[in-house]
Amino acid sequence: MKKPVIAIDGYSSTGKSSISKIIADKLGLIHMDTGALYRGVTWYALQHCLNENSEIDLNRLFASLDQIKLEFKNNDGTLILFLNDIDISKDIRTNIVSDNVSLVAKQKEVRDFLLQSQRSLAEKGGVIMDGRDIGTVVLPNADYKFFLTASIDERTNRRFLELKSLGIETDKEQVKQNLIERDKIDSEREIAPLKQAEDAIVIDNSALTKEETIDLILSHIEKI
Ligand code: C5P
Repeated sequence: MKKPVIAIDGYSSTGKSSISKIIADKLGLIHMDTGALYRGVTWYALQHCLNENSEIDLNRLFASLDQIKLEFKNNDGTLILFLNDIDISKDIRTNIVSDNVSLVAKQKEVRDFLLQSQRSLAEKGGVIMDGRDIGTVVLPNADYKFFLTASIDERTNRRFLELKSLGIETDKEQVKQNLIERDKIDSEREIAPLKQAEDAIVIDNSALTKEETIDLILSHIEKI
């Protein structure tokens, strides 16, 4: 039997990636965290494409996209993102990347560049992909679609704890402002905005643990 294709979209810090990874392990699927790809391109831009004001020069980035090779490698069940063979999995979580990623992600050139690799991964089935536009644009024919949301305070707490566990120093207000700002840019952009697919199942997990959210998703998968 062909394994399913599952799309998980939603707001920042609703647990999309960690939940998707656990479901992938349970169901024997490949997991792709598409946010990490946009973060990887942003990290590259911050290293190689700054103008004299230390801002990202988008035209330079567009001209350099063919220099960017992003690959996930499996390290004991954890997916590590490599940029041109260098492990950037911690760099992509830093505040400077979070502060710039939505600007980079709203560019058509960048989205086109990343689209094909996302789609080709899903061709054979057996994939769970999380992001903002998976159910609407990347995999509109996914077998199952979920859209995760949660209150801003709950999401702030989660992101704050995640950064702390990675040893990244930050304060809660900064984390909250970044989430609000990214949600706004991601939802209002012209191309592939963050929005719920019409046929997605919406889950507000403000009051749910990670395990409860996973059980809820699995119960829907078993039901359909
Ligand atoms: O999921 P994560 O918070 O790591 O995503 C970082 C950013 O990447 C998002 O705020 C959004 O700007 C962008 N993104 C996107 N489309 C996706 C996944 C992420 O535009 N499918």
